[in-house]
Amino acid sequence: MSAKLRLALWVTSMVLLVSVMVLVFVLVINRHSLPEDPAAYLVDVVIDNANDVEYDRGKFEWNEMSVYKRGVYCSFYNTNGDLLLSADKEDMDFSGEPFIANKIRTVRSGDKEFYLYDYYVDMEVSGLWIRGVVLTDSHQGITDIILRLTIVILPVILIVTFLGALWISSRTFRPIEKIVATANSINDADDLTDRIALKKGPKEMKQLAGAFDRMFERLEKVFDAERQFTSDASHELRTPTAIILAECDRAKRKAETPEDYRESIDNISEQGKRMSALIDELLGITRLQQGTERYPLSKGDLSEFVTLSCEEFVPADDRGIRMETEIEPGIECSFNASLMSRVIYNLLQNAYKYGRDNGYVRLSLVKENNDAVIRVKDNGIGIKKEDLDKIWQRFWQADSSRGSEGGNGLGLAMVKEIAELHGGSVTAESTEGRGSEFIFRIPAVS
Ligand code: ADP
Repeated sequence: MSAKLRLALWVTSMVLLVSVMVLVFVLVINRHSLPEDPAAYLVDVVIDNANDVEYDRGKFEWNEMSVYKRGVYCSFYNTNGDLLLSADKEDMDFSGEPFIANKIRTVRSGDKEFYLYDYYVDMEVSGLWIRGVVLTDSHQGITDIILRLTIVILPVILIVTFLGALWISSRTFRPIEKIVATANSINDADDLTDRIALKKGPKEMKQLAGAFDRMFERLEKVFDAERQFTSDASHELRTPTAIILAECDRAKRKAETPEDYRESIDNISEQGKRMSALIDELLGITRLQQGTERYPLSKGDLSEFVTLSCEEFVPADDRGIRMETEIEPGIECSFNASLMSRVIYNLLQNAYKYGRDNGYVRLSLVKENNDAVIRVKDNGIGIKKEDLDKIWQRFWQADSSRGSEGGNGLGLAMVKEIAELHGGSVTAESTEGRGSEFIFRIPAVS
């Protein structure tokens, strides 16, 4: 049985239970309540009717008459005892009773006992008998009415409740069907870009769909990063692997002296080191992109951190380049220290690597529009205008032969990922032949 149907049935049975309880309660109250004497109001109702009788041109006017009032049933007879008007109540036919004016009698019909009261209205030309009957047990009448109403109303209430509950539950569950359909389509089509994107529906369902969408987004990111890692790794490792194999082959075929072997082993070892460094960097950047590894950000003095990092920085080859720093003190940021030192190292290392002999590298840190901004500027070879967009791509190098100098084209891609992880950005400005400036920006704590 579907959850919708189960819910609707449950609500309906609850309403039935409550209705039965209310009914029992009302009946019990009715039984124990103290009503006025039925005989007294029997007379009242009959006399009321008698006062309203009108006789016009040989006809009685019935408009004002009450055939039923407060449990009293009235019948009207002419002087011959012919029934003129009565309440339609089959089990209460007292036409056979003789008319005795103004006397309350007790009569029986079936297993019920009634008071009967006759009243004669004399209209001079004609006359009218009014006969009123009421149950001696006044509770019985009310109980009858309650039970009759219950038989009519309760089924309606139950049907409306059932249909209403079914409608609400199917509306509530509709988003779940959408979630299931999206999950299935993602699974079947292997397309992680699909989203539930629930616009309408109950708040809880929107939260559920939102949580699923965020999960799909994260899965997509992880899969993308993994796919890229696999493709990058297989592409980038092909060259060193080929070199290692060629070197082994050469050693096997041509090496004769221990020096020849040592030379081959040195070559192989160098390629092995490059591969290992490359895999490390690639894994680092992939983890950053996937968000699988936690890099907690903590609040700290970025000015102090940058000052220390610059002091500790040792360029691979300084070529007479001098470093100038200009650091605004007391800038507070939320940052991850190991990632931030990576940023400073990568930017400074590049500035030295692509800097001019005996030139300069300037690092500054300032607070601008509530951002902490690190600028690293050099007066080196610069970057071609058309290459400025490409420098952030993995493995992109203006001059790939420089790879042998230790670079692998992953440094700036890493810097970009780190900036994004901190909720910031990194940009570059450069003029070919005159130098470059890298601008790294993350939100400061105000
Ligand atoms: P790598 O330095 O290992 O080659 P990066 O990702 O750090 O890799 O840089 C990518 C490319 O961007 C470099 O190969 C270089 O061509 C260019 N580049 C980076 N920094 C500078 C700079 N300060 N001046 C000129 N070119 C740069």
